[in-house]
Amino acid sequence: MEKGLTRVDLFEYQARDLFAKHGVPVLAGEVIDTPEAAREATEKLGGRSVVKAQVKVGGRGKAGGVKLAATPDEAVARATDILGMDIKGHTVHKVMIAETAPEILEEYYVSYLLDRTNRTFLAMASVQGGMDIEEVAEKTPEALAKVPVDSNEGVTIEKAREIVAQAKFPAEVAEKVAEVMVTLWKTFVAEDALLVEVNPLAKVANGDVLALDGKVSLDENADFRQPEHEALEDKAAANPLEAAAKAKGLNYVKLDGEVGIIGNGAGLVMSTLDVVAYAGENHGNVKPANFLDIGGGASAEVMANGLEIILGDPDVKSVFVNVFGGITACDEVANGIVQALELLKSKGEAVTKPLVVRLDGNNAELGRKILSDANHPLVQRVDTMDGAADKAAELAAAK
Ligand code: GDP
Ligand code: MN
Repeated sequence: MEKGLTRVDLFEYQARDLFAKHGVPVLAGEVIDTPEAAREATEKLGGRSVVKAQVKVGGRGKAGGVKLAATPDEAVARATDILGMDIKGHTVHKVMIAETAPEILEEYYVSYLLDRTNRTFLAMASVQGGMDIEEVAEKTPEALAKVPVDSNEGVTIEKAREIVAQAKFPAEVAEKVAEVMVTLWKTFVAEDALLVEVNPLAKVANGDVLALDGKVSLDENADFRQPEHEALEDKAAANPLEAAAKAKGLNYVKLDGEVGIIGNGAGLVMSTLDVVAYAGENHGNVKPANFLDIGGGASAEVMANGLEIILGDPDVKSVFVNVFGGITACDEVANGIVQALELLKSKGEAVTKPLVVRLDGNNAELGRKILSDANHPLVQRVDTMDGAADKAAELAAAK
């Protein structure tokens, strides 16, 4: 995971709720997690419903995860079929019971996204929406209009008409689709989204245009000004160590290896990952177990929090603490490590895995002396980055 690119993908029912909030036309829907609950939900909708698997992967329709139910009993039966189903490796734990659309006459595709390569926002639209949009994009790219959106100007009704014209929407729906494009842009901006997508945007028998399926990815970096977004995150699916680290305000990403990594500064931690992976080639192919950047002002408490997360990872066999003293000098970091080990011990979480510590930069000598004087049986000092990485890999392999 790259820092700054953390995205939160939503379930369809959550996207539907956000669309409804900003005026994108959607049908009623309720999410449930037991088959029996489908009965009441369907009764509320007048006795008919669409039962839709809630998984964060496309192609649910083709996989049998979207079924019409003509009666409440049928809805229970379809929910029984769909709950627990596996769709492309995603187990269905929830279904949405949605209001049935009037007869669908046409299916379109519309979206907005952040186009990082071109440093702009992009509107995409096609009259050939529905279940095969990926194929359309690949085989007939001319059928998918792509229109850059200037972030200062946004999508006014005029801009929306331009997008709709480029995608060659039929005249009888053009204005309705343009209105949807405006409300969809409002959703995109107001929710700090990286992607909002509607597929299908359906033209139905009464002439209405309805968003029947939605996909939204939110920008996690905007969480500070989006207090409602936290509730949308799928805590159950998140890695428990990542969740614990997040709760402590740590910048941590779980990886597959055995060598726990703590460093200060994202750049240093990234290169530490590389050096450890390289050293691991000589020691049974051990690899880094995580990314953890404790930042510039790493206090003893932050160090203790970081060590606690890493030592709580059952995959970790050794820990490499790699610090380059800057504003926070090495002696403070060394004291932090010593105090962190004491802190963990006093919490009944005594350290049992070997730690390799490399200190360099501001006040390195003093920091090294503090570690030597502390003489902790599990802490080894190695003063070069390569040497320390090699030692940490060797210790991990020996375990
Ligand atoms: P996806 O396959 O994961 O993209 O799931 P969708 O929600 O897009 O559903 C797939 C297809 O089911 C759509 O393209 C529609 O044709 C159909 N569908 C979805 N919602 C409804 C609905 O409310 N009524 C009817 N009749 N069909 C629907
Ligand atoms: Mn769809």
